[in-house]
Amino acid sequence: MTHAPRPSSEAPVTIVVTGGGTAGWMTAAALSRFLQRGYRIRLVESDAIGTVGVGEATIPQIVNFNTALGIDEDAFLKATQGTFKLGIEFVDWLRPGHRYMHAFGDVGRAIEGNPFIPYWLRAQELGVAKPLSAYSLNEMAARAERMHRGGPVTSPMVPAIPYAFHFDAGLYAAFLRRIAEEQGVERIEGRIVSVERDGTSGDVAALLLEGDRRVEGDLFVDCTGFRALLIGETLGVGFEDWGHWLPCDRALAVPSDIDDSLTPYTRSTAKAAGWQWRIPLQHRIGNGLVYSSAHLSDDEAAATLLAGLDTEALADPRPIRFRTGRRREGWRGNVVAIGLASGFLEPLESTSIHMIQSAIQRLLKLIPRARATDAIRAEYNRQTDFEIERIRDVIILHYHANQRDEPLWQAVRAMTLPDSLRHKLDLWRASGAITREHEELFTEVGWFQVLVGQGVISASYHPIADQINAADLGEFMELVEALYRREALALTDHAAFVARHCAG
Ligand code: FAD
Repeated sequence: MTHAPRPSSEAPVTIVVTGGGTAGWMTAAALSRFLQRGYRIRLVESDAIGTVGVGEATIPQIVNFNTALGIDEDAFLKATQGTFKLGIEFVDWLRPGHRYMHAFGDVGRAIEGNPFIPYWLRAQELGVAKPLSAYSLNEMAARAERMHRGGPVTSPMVPAIPYAFHFDAGLYAAFLRRIAEEQGVERIEGRIVSVERDGTSGDVAALLLEGDRRVEGDLFVDCTGFRALLIGETLGVGFEDWGHWLPCDRALAVPSDIDDSLTPYTRSTAKAAGWQWRIPLQHRIGNGLVYSSAHLSDDEAAATLLAGLDTEALADPRPIRFRTGRRREGWRGNVVAIGLASGFLEPLESTSIHMIQSAIQRLLKLIPRARATDAIRAEYNRQTDFEIERIRDVIILHYHANQRDEPLWQAVRAMTLPDSLRHKLDLWRASGAITREHEELFTEVGWFQVLVGQGVISASYHPIADQINAADLGEFMELVEALYRREALALTDHAAFVARHCAG
């Protein structure tokens, strides 16, 4: 193996971000903010090729990303036609007519420092528990179309309301481009027609662009989307297909007109052979159908999507094909794949942009001064694998634990689960315990909401919940509900808040 010399102060490490979708511009904006000295950041993109053009719903960690970049939240929301998001509503997932929310933030309240989950399970057994919606401030606020930025409004006894955003992904990329260019990123427009490799190490040496242009670099970040031009096509890193767990392989996306409401949550509605998303922005509602081509024709998919719109379609449905799975190595040689080039999970829990963000954080933590060592790559790949596998398990859970009748739903109910998910389910069913390893994205409360929402109720609970008498437990449940209900009503109307602070 060859090692590039450590660069002197006159020879900065050149990082070439390849691709200018959401992944490319998030990467360029973050690297250029934190690596001002000793690094030179360039980005190559082709307007002629364009981006995937979807990806509008996020989770609360995006707030940290924007803050780290010094972004003013109102300016960002104005620029991206953004709205606030307090959770995701799942309609008809367990069975037609059923709905629940995976809301951000906490559910219930701890009792003497002990988590709420076993108390709810016991209260359920005693017949004094209501659905989790009665104990989630985020869900109450979301359903009342209210929101709040910052801490509690009426009482320090209530939790803060974590939020994320819905936004136009194309506008977000353009917004980040301005920031990145101000921070010194050099944007190069042009189509990459071939890739030159180092004869000894096999590393990528340069990108060759149409018009006989050559872009050299030390480290290349592959943000070329599903094409995976560097990590896949050039270096030959394989793709691990997860279609046997997540059979949907196509989507149709369509914008529709806005209506009077501005719901601060994403809606996901299960359909006969997939599911439909609804994402309200300021200027349009983003909609899409994710479906399995083995179970539904494209024409039937278009008809399903259009029939499921709340408002008039503003364009024809746009088709997108995908494969669910991950790149076998996220970092090989001097190429790191970020975004769709590194893998894809369908957007059921709005996790793709988050995985871009966490990949950038990992890259920044491990950024080499010269060529990466095997240890750096191994650690990056270990963390990447762990993250996507655990997110995958939550998404599989949504599919697997269903009581629907159609062939797709029957098939996923009968499938063999990944060991990691099987273990979680066995533990939960037997004891009411939810384990979570340090680096997992979803919290115990997140898992709890999805498990209960999908009808997987534990037969047991931790004995700590027996240490309180039944009458006190019933009273406690009522108090929490009343407290949160009062708080939710004191919050600001979401549409009014957007109109006042961040109208685009
Ligand atoms: P792309 O947007 O495809 O960008 C690829 C870039 O590479 C482009 O700039 C292109 O010009 C460039 N490029 C490619 N080839 C060449 C070449 N030869 N020469 C020069 N440039 C080239 N994520 C969420 O977080 N929330 C969601 O709600 C969500 N919904 C989604 C719905 C669907 C149906 C799909 C498919 C994805 C969704 N995602 C969502 C994922 C999200 O869209 C992506 O994670 C995000 O847009 C990042 O895409 P990307 O930048 O990796 O790729």
